Amino acid sequence: MSTNEPTPAEMYRDRPVYYCSGCAAVLCLQDELISKAFSGRDGRGYLMHSATNVKLGKKEDRPLLTGVHTVADVFCVGCDERVGWYYHKASDHSQKYKEGKYLLERERLIKDNAWRLEE
Ligand SMILES: [Zn+2]
Repeated sequence: MSTNEPTPAEMYRDRPVYYCSGCAAVLCLQDELISKAFSGRDGRGYLMHSATNVKLGKKEDRPLLTGVHTVADVFCVGCDERVGWYYHKASDHSQKYKEGKYLLERERLIKDNAWRLEE
């Protein structure tokens, strides 16, 4: 039996992450970034493999530039700010790669590599 299981805080400690601009909670690892070339609701968006410290809102069909997608808004659990949305389903075949991914608004994210300076 291992007593050395890392806590979430430890898992993220030495890795570059994006923070919530509202409350500085860790929202995602920079390693999880798929593309920065996306559009959010208010500006640029980042497509991410995963996110943490977030909760999903109600599922809804939303017409986006690339067709109708079934999405749910994503909220930070720390400050309840909307930080982006989650792709449940894409209607168009060419957009299927987005399913199960997160689109996070760039202006909601703070990039921080400060931990690396200690090395
Ligand atoms: Zn927050």
